[in-house]
Amino acid sequence: MPAHSETTSRQLRPIAWGAALLAGFITQLLLILFVTLIALQQLGVTTDNLNAVVDVHMRKQNLTKTMLNVARERTLIMLTLTKIGDPFERDDLLTRFNEKGTEYAVARQSLQDMPLSPRERKLITLQQQLIKIAQPIQTQVIDLISAQHNLEAEQIAITRAIPTQNQVLAVLFQLDAETQHVALAASRKAYEAQKVARFWMYLLCGAALLVGVIVAAVVLRYTARISREREHLAIHDALTGLPNRRLLLECLEQALAHARRNKTMIGVLFIDLDNFKRVNDTLGHAVGDQLICHVARRLRAAVRNEDIVARLGGDEFVVVISDVHAASQILHVVDKILAVMVAPYQIAERELFNSCSVGIGVYPTDGTSSSDLLKNADTAMYHAKSSGKNRYHLYDAAMNAMAEEQLQLDTDLHYALERNEFVFHYQPQVNLNSGRTDTVEALIRWNHPDKGLLSPATFLDMLEDTGEILPVGRKLLGTACAQGARWHAAGFNDLTVAINVSSKEFWHQDLLANVHDALDRSGLPPRSLQLELTEGILMGDMDVAVHKILALKAIGVSIAIDDFGTGYSSLAHLKRFPLDVLKIDRYFIKDIRHDSVNEALVISILALCNGLNLDTVAEGVETRSQLEVLRKIGCPVVQGYLISQPVPAEDVMALLQRDWLQELDLHSDTPA
Ligand code: C2E
Ligand code: CA
Ligand code: CA
Repeated sequence: MPAHSETTSRQLRPIAWGAALLAGFITQLLLILFVTLIALQQLGVTTDNLNAVVDVHMRKQNLTKTMLNVARERTLIMLTLTKIGDPFERDDLLTRFNEKGTEYAVARQSLQDMPLSPRERKLITLQQQLIKIAQPIQTQVIDLISAQHNLEAEQIAITRAIPTQNQVLAVLFQLDAETQHVALAASRKAYEAQKVARFWMYLLCGAALLVGVIVAAVVLRYTARISREREHLAIHDALTGLPNRRLLLECLEQALAHARRNKTMIGVLFIDLDNFKRVNDTLGHAVGDQLICHVARRLRAAVRNEDIVARLGGDEFVVVISDVHAASQILHVVDKILAVMVAPYQIAERELFNSCSVGIGVYPTDGTSSSDLLKNADTAMYHAKSSGKNRYHLYDAAMNAMAEEQLQLDTDLHYALERNEFVFHYQPQVNLNSGRTDTVEALIRWNHPDKGLLSPATFLDMLEDTGEILPVGRKLLGTACAQGARWHAAGFNDLTVAINVSSKEFWHQDLLANVHDALDRSGLPPRSLQLELTEGILMGDMDVAVHKILALKAIGVSIAIDDFGTGYSSLAHLKRFPLDVLKIDRYFIKDIRHDSVNEALVISILALCNGLNLDTVAEGVETRSQLEVLRKIGCPVVQGYLISQPVPAEDVMALLQRDWLQELDLHSDTPA
């Protein structure tokens, strides 16, 4: 349940993110709109202010015009007065004359109260000075009229009052022109300023909107891409880009639906590489990854575009062949796959060889659901593997029973250690010069309550995969040392006990302590314990491996390299390691009598061991003729069924007592 809710929350997260972003951008857009509105409102206020300024100028202009008109009228009234005889009419006109004077003074005062430019102020001052000259003359004319000296008044009006009044009018004209000019300039300025402000405001708001929209689009596109990539990763294998299990199941379901409708067959191929673990262990994960990629490409190229090629993880692939009408079509593809897989792989300047085992499940005969088909193809693959690799196996129902048995075995294995079901059998290594057993190799057996004695081939991989090899190895190390000490006590105090150390055990930090502990408890001298390491271990982190081996040798135990020749280490490579014994793998011994290449190889390995001062053991010696060739070419120590099968501890003593030169009748033809 927690796993499920975790995936749901993982799916929800991108959606929540998208929603949050969208909300953020909508807020931004609203803000921009809000700012625009505020700015427009402010612009309105500014416009009003400017209008007020323009209004002031207009009022000034009106006042100036009033002064001008009033001055003109006063002149006219004055002239009319000189011509009028009727005293009533004259009084009327005099009253109007004085009213106009007051009107003029009021207008001027209002004008003076307003904000004025220096030039306006100057013109008003000039006008006042002229009025000061004109006023007494006008008063004189009015006085003369009041005294009814009309002719004289007219005389003075025409010659003096009107010209000075005209001067005043001229100044007022100038003032009028000036106020008009200032008003026009102010309104033009206000208009221009508003135009510029409006332009910038539209530009900035537009730009902000545009930027917001672009950013929103980019971010939305980006998040969409990320979620697409995530989606892709979730259904594809990161290393090869092939569909992963999830997508495979989806596609297989679709293919099944299609096959049901069209009454066609489907081939489900479960493919597992045969030597991947070795490549990974000896050449490292980087090379292993490259191999997987090469395999993926070859598989993809071997089938049609519409067929599915998926990687389940590790070195497991599944190919689904659809639209099939006969089983032979599937087998044809499988043959092609097996053929392309064995071609050499060029990786990291090396040539690697690998094969694969293929299990085949066919719809509808071997299952009608994707899970059944995959499970059955897997079971068939397991059979292909156990019947010799580099081959295919079609599923049949009997396999299922066997697969279940294997599952049961895996479960039993889990309890084997606490039930003390692991034992050692020992196999002697015989020195061909002395005829004596120098060393016995301890080989693990599982004493299964129902199935009897099982060999490591049936359970060792499982022990290593689960890591249980660590406690099992520690326990057995103690057992072997205690057994060795017992043989020493019985008089065979030159006997060495050899024990196999898997790579997991070797790299584990407790190895040194465990060895110390086992020796201490048993009392077996360190020189009588030998650890057998495989080449793969030496191909790991070389410096650390050398360090670890040196530390082991400091305790006093000896180190053998096991199965030599089957890994990828070169002879030159060996020189870096402080080894004591080299065990030639039985592959080279098997055909040594008939295969001159193998014989030559063994001869050169022997020469190398001589040069490096290593003892050499030939493994898997089964026949007398193999023994003779080995003896002829100078191999000093042999191990194999010819001497003895691995036997229980209680049977070892009898073997130790034997003189093998006599036993094998080798006295007569002692080698040169
Ligand atoms: P190995 O170390 O190469 O051991 C030699 C294997 O060859 C043994 O198989 C042995 O029974 C078999 N053998 C000996 N003489 C002959 C012969 O003349 N002909 C043939 N065909 N085979 C022969 P076994 O006991 O089944 O062990 C298999 C492998 O399991 C060992 O190979 C070793 O790598 C591993 N192993 C065994 N015991 C242990 C253990 O206690 N710990 C670890 N880590 N690995 C172990
Ligand atoms: Ca061994
Ligand atoms: Ca071996």
